[in-house]
Amino acid sequence: MTVDVLVVGAGIVGLAHAYEAARRGLKVLVMERDAACIGASIRNFGFVTVTGQQAGASWARARRSRDVWAELAPQAGIDVVHRGLWLSAQRSEAGGVLEAFMATEMAQGCELLSPAAAAARFAGLRTEGLQSVLYSPHELRVESRSAIPKLAAWLAETHGVQFRFGEAVLAVATPEVHTSRGVYRAERVIVCGGAELNGLFAPLWQPHDLRLCQLQMLRVRPQAGFRLEGSVMGDLSLVRYEGYAALPEAQTLRERLLAEEGASLAHGIHLIVVQSADGSLVVGDSHHYGPVLPPFALEEVDALILRQLRAALRLSEATVIERWVGTYPSSSHEPCLVLAPDAATRAVTVTSGTGASTAFGLAEEVFAAW
Ligand SMILES: Cc1cc2nc3c(=O)[nH]c(=O)nc-3n(C[C@H](O)[C@H](O)[C@H](O)COP(=O)(O)OP(=O)(O)OC[C@H]3O[C@@H](n4cnc5c(N)ncnc54)[C@H](O)[C@@H]3O)c2cc1C
Repeated sequence: MTVDVLVVGAGIVGLAHAYEAARRGLKVLVMERDAACIGASIRNFGFVTVTGQQAGASWARARRSRDVWAELAPQAGIDVVHRGLWLSAQRSEAGGVLEAFMATEMAQGCELLSPAAAAARFAGLRTEGLQSVLYSPHELRVESRSAIPKLAAWLAETHGVQFRFGEAVLAVATPEVHTSRGVYRAERVIVCGGAELNGLFAPLWQPHDLRLCQLQMLRVRPQAGFRLEGSVMGDLSLVRYEGYAALPEAQTLRERLLAEEGASLAHGIHLIVVQSADGSLVVGDSHHYGPVLPPFALEEVDALILRQLRAALRLSEATVIERWVGTYPSSSHEPCLVLAPDAATRAVTVTSGTGASTAFGLAEEVFAAW
Protein backbone atom coordinates (compact mmCIF):
# COMPACT_ATOMS: atom_id res chain seq x y z
CA MET A 1 0.00 0.00 0.00
CA THR A 2 1.19 3.54 -0.79
CA VAL A 3 0.03 6.60 1.19
CA ASP A 4 1.02 10.25 1.52
CA VAL A 5 1.58 10.11 5.28
CA LEU A 6 2.17 7.12 7.53
CA VAL A 7 1.81 7.83 11.26
CA VAL A 8 3.29 5.46 13.84
CA GLY A 9 1.26 5.37 17.08
CA ALA A 10 -2.46 5.92 17.72
CA GLY A 11 -2.11 7.96 20.91
CA ILE A 12 -3.18 11.59 20.96
CA VAL A 13 0.07 12.79 19.36
CA GLY A 14 -0.31 10.35 16.45
CA LEU A 15 -4.03 11.12 16.06
CA ALA A 16 -3.38 14.88 16.09
CA HIS A 17 -0.84 14.46 13.28
CA ALA A 18 -3.22 12.16 11.37
CA TYR A 19 -5.95 14.81 11.69
CA GLU A 20 -3.68 17.62 10.52
CA ALA A 21 -2.49 15.56 7.54
CA ALA A 22 -6.06 14.59 6.59
CA ARG A 23 -7.20 18.22 6.94
CA ARG A 24 -4.54 19.05 4.33
CA GLY A 25 -6.15 16.55 1.95
CA LEU A 26 -3.46 13.88 2.35
CA LYS A 27 -4.03 10.12 2.33
CA VAL A 28 -3.15 8.90 5.83
CA LEU A 29 -2.41 5.51 7.38
CA VAL A 30 -1.92 5.05 11.15
CA MET A 31 -0.01 2.02 12.48
CA GLU A 32 -0.56 1.01 16.11
CA ARG A 33 1.22 -2.00 17.54
CA ASP A 34 -1.45 -2.75 20.14
CA ALA A 35 -4.97 -3.89 19.27
CA ALA A 36 -6.17 -0.56 20.73
CA CYS A 37 -4.42 2.48 22.15
CA ILE A 38 -3.64 1.66 25.79
CA GLY A 39 -0.80 4.16 26.30
CA ALA A 40 -0.58 7.46 28.16
CA SER A 41 -3.36 8.95 26.04
CA ILE A 42 -6.09 6.81 27.61
CA ARG A 43 -4.55 6.80 31.11
CA ASN A 44 -4.52 10.54 31.62
CA PHE A 45 -7.04 12.91 33.23
CA GLY A 46 -8.32 14.14 29.87
CA PHE A 47 -7.61 17.53 31.37
CA VAL A 48 -6.95 19.94 28.51
CA THR A 49 -5.08 22.55 30.50
CA VAL A 50 -4.31 26.07 29.34
CA THR A 51 -3.71 28.07 32.53
CA GLY A 52 -0.47 26.98 34.18
CA GLN A 53 1.26 25.85 30.99
CA GLN A 54 4.79 27.12 30.47
CA ALA A 55 4.78 30.70 29.12
CA GLY A 56 5.39 31.09 25.39
CA ALA A 57 5.07 28.24 22.90
CA SER A 58 3.44 25.71 25.29
CA TRP A 59 0.77 28.20 26.38
CA ALA A 60 0.04 29.06 22.72
CA ARG A 61 -0.11 25.36 21.74
CA ALA A 62 -2.47 24.64 24.62
CA ARG A 63 -4.85 27.43 23.64
CA ARG A 64 -4.89 26.21 20.05
CA SER A 65 -5.31 22.55 21.10
CA ARG A 66 -8.19 23.47 23.43
CA ASP A 67 -9.92 25.20 20.49
CA VAL A 68 -9.41 22.15 18.27
CA TRP A 69 -10.78 19.81 20.98
CA ALA A 70 -13.81 22.10 21.38
CA GLU A 71 -14.44 22.03 17.63
CA LEU A 72 -13.87 18.30 17.10
CA ALA A 73 -15.52 16.92 20.22
CA PRO A 74 -19.17 17.42 19.15
CA GLN A 75 -18.44 16.15 15.63
CA ALA A 76 -16.72 13.02 16.96
CA GLY A 77 -19.37 12.33 19.62
CA ILE A 78 -16.95 13.16 22.45
CA ASP A 79 -18.54 14.78 25.51
CA VAL A 80 -16.85 17.73 27.16
CA VAL A 81 -17.58 16.55 30.71
CA HIS A 82 -16.76 19.86 32.40
CA ARG A 83 -14.96 23.14 31.79
CA GLY A 84 -12.73 25.46 33.81
CA LEU A 85 -10.17 25.10 36.60
CA TRP A 86 -10.34 25.90 40.34
CA LEU A 87 -6.93 26.27 41.96
CA SER A 88 -7.09 26.69 45.76
CA ALA A 89 -4.26 28.52 47.54
CA GLN A 90 -4.03 27.13 51.09
CA ARG A 91 -0.80 28.80 52.19
CA SER A 92 -0.05 32.52 52.15
CA GLU A 93 2.94 31.81 49.86
CA ALA A 94 0.56 30.07 47.44
CA GLY A 95 -1.67 33.13 47.54
CA GLY A 96 1.43 35.17 46.62
CA VAL A 97 2.09 32.95 43.59
CA LEU A 98 -1.50 33.38 42.40
CA GLU A 99 -1.30 37.17 42.80
CA ALA A 100 1.93 37.21 40.77
CA PHE A 101 0.32 34.97 38.14
CA MET A 102 -2.63 37.36 37.85
CA ALA A 103 -0.18 40.07 36.78
CA THR A 104 1.00 38.01 33.78
CA GLU A 105 -0.59 37.96 30.31
CA MET A 106 -1.48 34.30 30.92
CA ALA A 107 -4.11 35.37 33.47
CA GLN A 108 -6.34 36.75 30.71
CA GLY A 109 -9.92 35.79 31.53
CA CYS A 110 -8.98 34.29 34.93
CA GLU A 111 -10.41 35.51 38.25
CA LEU A 112 -8.77 35.58 41.67
CA LEU A 113 -11.62 34.90 44.09
CA SER A 114 -11.94 35.26 47.85
CA PRO A 115 -12.74 31.96 49.60
CA ALA A 116 -16.33 33.18 50.18
CA ALA A 117 -16.80 34.08 46.51
CA ALA A 118 -15.42 30.68 45.46
CA ALA A 119 -17.69 28.88 47.95
CA ALA A 120 -20.73 30.67 46.53
CA ARG A 121 -19.96 29.27 43.07
CA PHE A 122 -18.57 25.83 43.97
CA ALA A 123 -20.23 24.28 47.01
CA GLY A 124 -18.04 21.16 46.92
CA LEU A 125 -14.78 23.10 47.33
CA ARG A 126 -13.34 23.28 50.87
CA THR A 127 -12.68 26.97 51.39
CA GLU A 128 -12.06 27.19 55.18
CA GLY A 129 -8.66 28.77 55.80
CA LEU A 130 -7.89 29.31 52.09
CA GLN A 131 -6.03 32.43 50.99
CA SER A 132 -7.69 32.70 47.59
CA VAL A 133 -8.92 30.64 44.66
CA LEU A 134 -7.91 31.07 41.02
CA TYR A 135 -10.72 30.36 38.57
CA SER A 136 -9.71 29.83 34.95
CA PRO A 137 -12.46 29.39 32.32
CA HIS A 138 -10.11 28.06 29.63
CA GLU A 139 -9.89 24.34 30.42
CA LEU A 140 -12.01 21.47 29.26
CA ARG A 141 -12.16 17.83 30.23
CA VAL A 142 -12.82 14.78 28.07
CA GLU A 143 -13.03 11.12 29.14
CA SER A 144 -9.81 9.95 27.50
CA ARG A 145 -10.49 6.25 27.58
CA SER A 146 -13.53 6.72 25.34
CA ALA A 147 -12.44 9.96 23.61
CA ILE A 148 -9.31 8.44 22.01
CA PRO A 149 -11.12 5.51 20.31
CA LYS A 150 -13.95 7.86 19.28
CA LEU A 151 -11.45 10.28 17.76
CA ALA A 152 -9.83 7.42 15.79
CA ALA A 153 -13.23 6.17 14.58
CA TRP A 154 -14.24 9.69 13.52
CA LEU A 155 -10.96 10.20 11.63
CA ALA A 156 -11.60 6.93 9.79
CA GLU A 157 -15.25 7.67 8.99
CA THR A 158 -15.13 11.34 8.09
CA HIS A 159 -11.55 11.88 6.93
CA GLY A 160 -10.80 8.48 5.40
CA VAL A 161 -7.82 7.88 7.70
CA GLN A 162 -6.90 4.20 7.62
CA PHE A 163 -5.84 2.38 10.77
CA ARG A 164 -3.89 -0.83 11.27
CA PHE A 165 -4.17 -1.89 14.88
CA GLY A 166 -2.05 -4.76 16.18
CA GLU A 167 0.73 -4.03 13.68
CA ALA A 168 4.12 -2.86 14.97
CA VAL A 169 6.42 -0.72 12.86
CA LEU A 170 9.84 -2.37 12.94
CA ALA A 171 11.89 -0.11 10.65
CA VAL A 172 11.45 3.22 8.89
CA ALA A 173 13.52 4.18 5.86
CA THR A 174 11.09 6.59 4.20
CA PRO A 175 9.52 5.94 1.72
CA GLU A 176 9.69 2.33 2.94
CA VAL A 177 8.17 1.22 6.22
CA HIS A 178 8.54 -2.36 7.48
CA THR A 179 5.96 -3.63 9.92
CA SER A 180 5.31 -6.92 11.68
CA ARG A 181 2.90 -7.75 8.83
CA GLY A 182 4.31 -6.22 5.66
CA VAL A 183 5.99 -3.39 3.79
CA TYR A 184 4.34 -0.04 3.03
CA ARG A 185 5.35 3.03 1.07
CA ALA A 186 4.73 6.58 2.27
CA GLU A 187 5.84 9.98 1.01
CA ARG A 188 6.25 11.08 4.61
CA VAL A 189 6.45 9.23 7.93
CA ILE A 190 5.75 10.64 11.39
CA VAL A 191 6.76 8.53 14.39
CA CYS A 192 4.68 9.28 17.51
CA GLY A 193 5.63 6.34 19.70
CA GLY A 194 5.19 8.02 23.08
CA ALA A 195 7.32 6.44 25.81
CA GLU A 196 8.99 4.00 23.39
CA LEU A 197 12.51 5.46 23.59
CA ASN A 198 14.44 2.26 22.83
CA GLY A 199 12.69 1.46 19.55
CA LEU A 200 12.56 3.49 16.31
CA PHE A 201 15.28 6.15 16.09
CA ALA A 202 16.61 5.26 19.55
CA PRO A 203 20.06 6.77 18.78
CA LEU A 204 18.40 10.09 17.89
CA TRP A 205 16.56 10.34 21.21
CA GLN A 206 19.68 9.52 23.18
CA PRO A 207 21.40 12.95 23.18
CA HIS A 208 18.21 14.56 24.52
CA ASP A 209 18.64 12.98 27.92
CA LEU A 210 15.07 11.72 28.20
CA ARG A 211 13.81 9.75 31.18
CA LEU A 212 10.53 7.99 31.74
CA CYS A 213 8.06 9.46 34.19
CA GLN A 214 5.48 7.20 35.84
CA LEU A 215 2.31 8.46 37.49
CA GLN A 216 -0.11 6.81 39.93
CA MET A 217 -3.79 7.50 39.34
CA LEU A 218 -7.00 6.69 41.20
CA ARG A 219 -10.69 6.65 40.43
CA VAL A 220 -12.71 7.56 43.49
CA ARG A 221 -16.45 7.30 44.14
CA PRO A 222 -17.68 10.32 46.11
CA GLN A 223 -21.02 10.59 47.92
CA ALA A 224 -24.08 10.55 45.65
CA GLY A 225 -24.81 13.89 44.05
CA PHE A 226 -21.32 15.35 44.56
CA ARG A 227 -20.60 17.72 41.67
CA LEU A 228 -17.28 19.15 40.56
CA GLU A 229 -17.70 22.53 38.90
CA GLY A 230 -14.44 22.11 36.93
CA SER A 231 -10.98 20.58 37.38
CA VAL A 232 -9.34 21.15 40.78
CA MET A 233 -5.70 21.76 41.73
CA GLY A 234 -3.89 23.00 44.86
CA ASP A 235 -0.68 24.41 46.39
CA LEU A 236 1.55 21.56 45.20
CA SER A 237 0.52 22.28 41.59
CA LEU A 238 2.02 25.75 41.87
CA VAL A 239 5.54 24.36 42.16
CA ARG A 240 5.01 21.78 39.39
CA TYR A 241 3.19 23.54 36.55
CA GLU A 242 5.73 25.76 34.81
CA GLY A 243 3.35 28.69 34.24
CA TYR A 244 3.31 29.21 38.03
CA ALA A 245 6.53 27.44 39.10
CA ALA A 246 8.73 29.72 36.97
CA LEU A 247 7.50 32.81 38.86
CA PRO A 248 10.01 34.04 41.50
CA GLU A 249 7.23 33.89 44.14
CA ALA A 250 7.09 30.09 43.74
CA GLN A 251 10.49 29.74 45.40
CA THR A 252 9.25 30.71 48.89
CA LEU A 253 6.26 28.41 48.46
CA ARG A 254 8.64 25.59 47.47
CA GLU A 255 10.67 26.14 50.65
CA ARG A 256 7.57 25.98 52.85
CA LEU A 257 6.27 22.88 51.04
CA LEU A 258 9.63 21.17 51.51
CA ALA A 259 9.22 21.66 55.26
CA GLU A 260 5.52 20.69 55.41
CA GLU A 261 4.93 18.31 52.48
CA GLY A 262 8.35 16.67 52.05
CA ALA A 263 6.92 13.18 51.43
CA SER A 264 4.54 14.44 48.75
CA LEU A 265 7.31 16.40 47.03
CA ALA A 266 9.63 13.37 47.15
CA HIS A 267 7.01 11.37 45.21
CA GLY A 268 6.33 14.29 42.86
CA ILE A 269 2.74 14.50 44.08
CA HIS A 270 0.35 17.30 43.29
CA LEU A 271 -3.42 17.25 43.17
CA ILE A 272 -5.56 17.14 40.05
CA VAL A 273 -9.21 16.11 40.34
CA VAL A 274 -11.62 15.78 37.42
CA GLN A 275 -15.07 14.20 37.23
CA SER A 276 -16.59 11.63 34.88
CA ALA A 277 -20.15 11.47 33.60
CA ASP A 278 -21.06 8.80 36.20
CA GLY A 279 -19.99 11.16 39.02
CA SER A 280 -16.73 9.32 39.85
CA LEU A 281 -13.58 11.41 40.30
CA VAL A 282 -10.25 10.79 38.57
CA VAL A 283 -7.62 11.78 41.10
CA GLY A 284 -3.82 12.02 40.93
CA ASP A 285 -0.98 12.15 40.63
CA SER A 286 2.63 11.26 41.49
CA HIS A 287 5.78 11.47 39.36
CA HIS A 288 8.62 8.93 39.57
CA TYR A 289 11.50 9.20 37.10
CA GLY A 290 14.04 6.76 35.68
CA PRO A 291 15.21 4.77 32.65
CA VAL A 292 12.79 1.97 33.56
CA LEU A 293 10.02 2.05 36.16
CA PRO A 294 8.56 -0.88 38.08
CA PRO A 295 4.81 -1.20 37.41
CA PHE A 296 3.97 -1.55 41.12
CA ALA A 297 1.84 1.21 42.62
CA LEU A 298 2.80 2.27 46.15
CA GLU A 299 0.02 2.43 48.75
CA GLU A 300 1.90 5.23 50.53
CA VAL A 301 1.63 7.37 47.40
CA ASP A 302 -2.10 6.71 47.01
CA ALA A 303 -2.62 7.65 50.68
CA LEU A 304 -0.79 10.96 50.19
CA ILE A 305 -2.86 11.77 47.10
CA LEU A 306 -6.10 10.92 48.93
CA ARG A 307 -5.09 13.19 51.83
CA GLN A 308 -4.73 16.07 49.35
CA LEU A 309 -8.10 15.18 47.86
CA ARG A 310 -9.92 15.27 51.21
CA ALA A 311 -8.26 18.59 52.09
CA ALA A 312 -9.46 20.16 48.83
CA LEU A 313 -13.05 18.92 48.54
CA ARG A 314 -16.06 18.40 50.82
CA LEU A 315 -16.21 14.63 50.55
CA SER A 316 -18.09 12.48 53.05
CA GLU A 317 -17.23 9.44 50.89
CA ALA A 318 -14.08 8.79 48.83
CA THR A 319 -13.99 5.10 47.93
CA VAL A 320 -11.18 4.05 45.57
CA ILE A 321 -12.70 2.00 42.74
CA GLU A 322 -9.76 1.85 40.29
CA ARG A 323 -5.97 2.29 40.39
CA TRP A 324 -3.55 2.45 37.47
CA VAL A 325 -0.16 3.77 36.43
CA GLY A 326 0.81 5.59 33.25
CA THR A 327 4.13 6.58 31.72
CA TYR A 328 5.37 9.37 29.50
CA PRO A 329 8.82 10.47 28.30
CA SER A 330 10.22 13.41 30.23
CA SER A 331 12.83 16.07 29.57
CA SER A 332 14.00 18.54 32.19
CA HIS A 333 14.34 21.30 29.59
CA GLU A 334 12.14 20.66 26.52
CA PRO A 335 8.31 20.50 26.53
CA CYS A 336 8.38 18.47 23.30
CA LEU A 337 10.81 17.21 20.70
CA VAL A 338 10.48 17.17 16.92
CA LEU A 339 13.37 15.30 15.31
CA ALA A 340 14.05 15.08 11.58
CA PRO A 341 15.95 11.86 10.79
CA ASP A 342 15.68 12.88 7.12
CA ALA A 343 13.71 15.30 4.96
CA ALA A 344 10.67 13.01 4.71
CA THR A 345 10.56 11.74 8.29
CA ARG A 346 9.70 13.27 11.66
CA ALA A 347 9.78 11.77 15.16
CA VAL A 348 7.59 13.71 17.57
CA THR A 349 7.13 13.31 21.29
CA VAL A 350 5.72 15.45 24.10
CA THR A 351 8.21 15.42 26.97
CA SER A 352 6.33 17.46 29.57
CA GLY A 353 3.28 15.30 30.31
CA THR A 354 0.99 17.69 28.45
CA GLY A 355 0.12 15.82 25.27
CA ALA A 356 -3.67 15.95 25.77
CA SER A 357 -3.32 19.73 26.11
CA THR A 358 -0.81 20.48 23.35
CA ALA A 359 -0.83 17.77 20.63
CA PHE A 360 -3.18 19.48 18.16
CA GLY A 361 -1.23 22.74 18.25
CA LEU A 362 2.06 20.86 17.98
CA ALA A 363 0.87 18.87 14.94
CA GLU A 364 -0.07 22.11 13.15
CA GLU A 365 3.43 23.47 13.86
CA VAL A 366 5.11 20.29 12.59
CA PHE A 367 3.26 20.45 9.26
CA ALA A 368 3.64 24.22 8.91
CA ALA A 369 7.43 23.96 9.35
CA TRP A 370 7.82 20.92 7.06
C1 LIG B 1 -1.28 9.23 34.16
C2 LIG B 1 -1.11 10.35 33.18
C3 LIG B 1 -1.86 11.50 33.33
C4 LIG B 1 -1.72 12.53 32.41
N1 LIG B 1 -2.56 13.60 32.47
C5 LIG B 1 -2.56 14.52 31.46
C6 LIG B 1 -3.55 15.51 31.38
O1 LIG B 1 -4.50 15.53 32.16
N2 LIG B 1 -3.43 16.46 30.44
C7 LIG B 1 -2.45 16.42 29.50
O2 LIG B 1 -2.38 17.30 28.66
N3 LIG B 1 -1.55 15.42 29.48
C8 LIG B 1 -1.59 14.47 30.43
N4 LIG B 1 -0.69 13.45 30.43
C9 LIG B 1 0.28 13.37 29.33
C10 LIG B 1 -0.36 12.82 28.06
O3 LIG B 1 -1.20 11.74 28.37
C11 LIG B 1 0.76 12.41 27.10
O4 LIG B 1 1.61 13.51 26.86
C12 LIG B 1 0.18 11.92 25.78
O5 LIG B 1 -0.81 10.95 25.98
C13 LIG B 1 1.27 11.36 24.90
O6 LIG B 1 0.66 10.89 23.73
P1 LIG B 1 1.45 9.95 22.73
O7 LIG B 1 0.55 9.73 21.59
O8 LIG B 1 2.81 10.50 22.51
O9 LIG B 1 1.72 8.61 23.58
P2 LIG B 1 0.83 7.31 23.80
O10 LIG B 1 -0.55 7.61 24.17
O11 LIG B 1 1.60 6.46 24.76
O12 LIG B 1 0.79 6.63 22.37
C14 LIG B 1 1.93 6.15 21.71
C15 LIG B 1 1.49 4.96 20.89
O13 LIG B 1 2.52 4.59 20.01
C16 LIG B 1 2.48 3.19 19.88
N5 LIG B 1 3.76 2.73 19.36
C17 LIG B 1 5.00 2.92 19.90
N6 LIG B 1 5.94 2.37 19.12
C18 LIG B 1 5.29 1.79 18.07
C19 LIG B 1 5.73 1.05 16.94
N7 LIG B 1 7.03 0.79 16.69
N8 LIG B 1 4.79 0.62 16.05
C20 LIG B 1 3.48 0.89 16.25
N9 LIG B 1 3.01 1.56 17.32
C21 LIG B 1 3.91 2.03 18.21
C22 LIG B 1 2.20 2.71 21.28
O14 LIG B 1 1.68 1.39 21.31
C23 LIG B 1 1.19 3.76 21.76
O15 LIG B 1 -0.16 3.36 21.57
C24 LIG B 1 -0.78 12.42 31.36
C25 LIG B 1 0.01 11.27 31.25
C26 LIG B 1 -0.17 10.23 32.14
C27 LIG B 1 0.65 9.00 31.97
